[in-house]
Amino acid sequence: MNKYRSKILLVYTGGTIGMIKDYETGALKAFNFDELLNRIPELSHLDCEIQTVSFETPMDSSNMNPEHWIRIADIIEDSYSDFDGFVVLHGSDTMSYTASAMSFMLENLGKPVIFTGSQLPIGDIRTDAKENLITSIEIASLRKNGRPVIQEVCLYFEYKLYRGNRTTKISADHFQAFASLNFPPLAESGVHLKVNEDQLLRSGRKKFKVHRDLDPSIALVKLFPGINKTAVRAMVMTDDIKAVVIETYGAGNAPTDQWFSDLVKEAVSSGKFLVNVTQCSGGSVMMGHYETSSHLKKAGVISGKNITTEAALTKLMYLLGSGVGPKVFRTIFETSLRGEMD
Ligand code: ASP
Repeated sequence: MNKYRSKILLVYTGGTIGMIKDYETGALKAFNFDELLNRIPELSHLDCEIQTVSFETPMDSSNMNPEHWIRIADIIEDSYSDFDGFVVLHGSDTMSYTASAMSFMLENLGKPVIFTGSQLPIGDIRTDAKENLITSIEIASLRKNGRPVIQEVCLYFEYKLYRGNRTTKISADHFQAFASLNFPPLAESGVHLKVNEDQLLRSGRKKFKVHRDLDPSIALVKLFPGINKTAVRAMVMTDDIKAVVIETYGAGNAPTDQWFSDLVKEAVSSGKFLVNVTQCSGGSVMMGHYETSSHLKKAGVISGKNITTEAALTKLMYLLGSGVGPKVFRTIFETSLRGEMD
């Protein structure tokens, strides 16, 4: 009997993995995808069939925006039934945002969507690109009982597979560029590939659905001691801002200054959704645990629990875009939709 060979679609959006040095300026710039593939002859030795599709103009991920996310979602939807898994090559700078957004946009995913990239270009002698790419493809090809092992949006980097919407970029130069501080890795690659099966998401047999309506009428306010009242008001009370993530201290704490409490109350009563996310890399918001968060709870601020800022921002775009009404907004935000919070 013939062994099943997985079909994987490799989606190239850009990023360092496929860049070369412009010798005139010394800056890294994106280059042609076919050239990228030529540099990894090992791909032809993998026991799966790989097809590729590339953004017309590969980009540095600092230029990513929701329109590009829709393009990635379109590519996946258009080829969903023809492939067993998807590997998306993406710049590491905003990879956690794209992976988080994609987790909300792709509902009832039954196949792997693995984001990966690298810190050094694929042509560099010390590159981390080959391991990241090859293992991502292997993970996307894993099957058990005739079904893909991974059925969610993930990010693979430096020997670890993470749930995409739990990650944050933590280093601009270490090969270990990402962390998932509030959730364990889904798989680790050593001599053996160890999958943490208990933690994997399963959507059952529900129909795969793509959500494209994202509403970016949101803002992010990171608190710091001495933060300026006029600046906070300008960001929070602007008319076309419908929701704001407030990055607070520790377990969700914020100043109890009258101007700040009044502004929070005014924003919530004017219909804006305020979400409390901690600026700590790990741990959870617990509003009411300290006096310095009780005023936020009383004003009706939504708890981001242990969500990352990346996932909170993209979840807001998704929920606002889906037209979730004010009565249920808090409950839905505080519920884990794609394993993004506990
Ligand atoms: N600036 C690059 C990008 O995010 C960095 C990388 O690819 O790792 O596109």
